[in-house]
Amino acid sequence: MEISQLYEIFKQYPSITTDTRNCAKDSIFFALKGSNFNGNLYAKKALELGCKYAIVDEAEFADESQNIFLVDDCLTMLQQLASFHRSKLSIPVIGVTGTNGKTTSKELITAVLSQEFNVLSTHGNLNNHIGVPLTLLKMTKAHEIAVIEMGANHVGEIKTLVEIARPNYGLITNVGRAHIEGFGSFENIIKAKGELYDFLREQKNSKIFIDNDNPYLKNISEGIATISYGNDDSLFVCGRAVSNDPYLSFVWKFSKNDHIVKTNLIGEYNLSNALAAVAIGKYFGVKTAKICKAIEEYVPNNNRSQLKKTEKNTLIIDAYNANPTSMGAALQNFTKMDVPNKTLILGDMRELGNDSEAEHQKIVDFIASNSIDNAFFVGDNFSKTNTTYPCFATLDDFTNFLKANPMEDRFILIKGSRGLQLEKCVDLL
Ligand code: ATP
Ligand code: MG
Repeated sequence: MEISQLYEIFKQYPSITTDTRNCAKDSIFFALKGSNFNGNLYAKKALELGCKYAIVDEAEFADESQNIFLVDDCLTMLQQLASFHRSKLSIPVIGVTGTNGKTTSKELITAVLSQEFNVLSTHGNLNNHIGVPLTLLKMTKAHEIAVIEMGANHVGEIKTLVEIARPNYGLITNVGRAHIEGFGSFENIIKAKGELYDFLREQKNSKIFIDNDNPYLKNISEGIATISYGNDDSLFVCGRAVSNDPYLSFVWKFSKNDHIVKTNLIGEYNLSNALAAVAIGKYFGVKTAKICKAIEEYVPNNNRSQLKKTEKNTLIIDAYNANPTSMGAALQNFTKMDVPNKTLILGDMRELGNDSEAEHQKIVDFIASNSIDNAFFVGDNFSKTNTTYPCFATLDDFTNFLKANPMEDRFILIKGSRGLQLEKCVDLL
């Protein structure tokens, strides 16, 4: 089946699914493959469950009389369809990438822009080679602007995503040390995130929104029109944190007027995410009061720096993910907090390859040198460090410890890689 033929079908049946657990009536099913599954096996079932068409890439499953069409490769076809659809709708697209803070920034930007526009935005964290096309395929004539999160674990992945989404604007939230296993080195991480800038540099009338206080980003932004935010008064939007107890409040300035915003975000590292949303809102003409309101009302979810008061303790649950940069930012923030009985529960940072041992040791040393008395470590990597703090090889070991030694009246930061699932110990705290 050719792309033009498929696009005609898509125009009539614009709902796409890749999952038989989620077959909307009259949708088109794409039979994607993963390491443990082959969507081709489910094409027939998708039609039984209400899909109008199925697209497969193994001839034995195709049956045009049953609306099951054969293509060379389903994923490529999905990406081509998204790219084709994107080219038909000429709304501004803002691509958001970076090591940390993509989803938070994307959601803050969406909240701000939604005050004035009908915004298409990445749902949750669907930021990869499948999620980006699926998001773009939700674009309709009613949308006025799109905010697309783009994630990567390897060099070249952002390039693929930008070629599909063809953004007009770009935001790299930051560059830091994560997924080093896949990227190979920190230089490659900068190069990989910079693929968004590389694309925009070649486009007419494109612009990037850039954190002026980030030297790595400034170094790679040459030759692109920039709209800057940060600490300096001369920037398009200037802002600084005013309190952090534990929620971030900040002041931002535009045309000499100061505006204060009291957020529901934990951590001073969120200042940069919030200022990006302010700058983008200002650039697209959202009124100042609406920008402030949108950011103040935004409440993070999914264990991304969430504050929770239990009967026994106060918790910052940041168990969504962890890498040396976000762990460092969270610890810097935690050490500055003026609260009693501060306690850390930290889980391993995964996917760090050869740097793993050194990066875990740096974290342990930072904590020791900042006189934090109460710290508990979970996971193989922390267990291998040279430390006197208690370490637990598995989450089960730690929860058994908690059952025997309950914690009370503490202010606890819980942070670790997704795989550790540290949020599972929250019920015991
Ligand atoms: P993913 O790669 O999983 O999509 P993400 O880039 O979308 O992650 P978020 O989900 O917004 O990032 O935030 C995840 C965690 O990263 C937060 O809970 C926080 O600990 C940390 N974080 C967020 N923003 C920053 C920042 N600007 N600098 C450092 N760490 C940050
Ligand atoms: Mg994300």
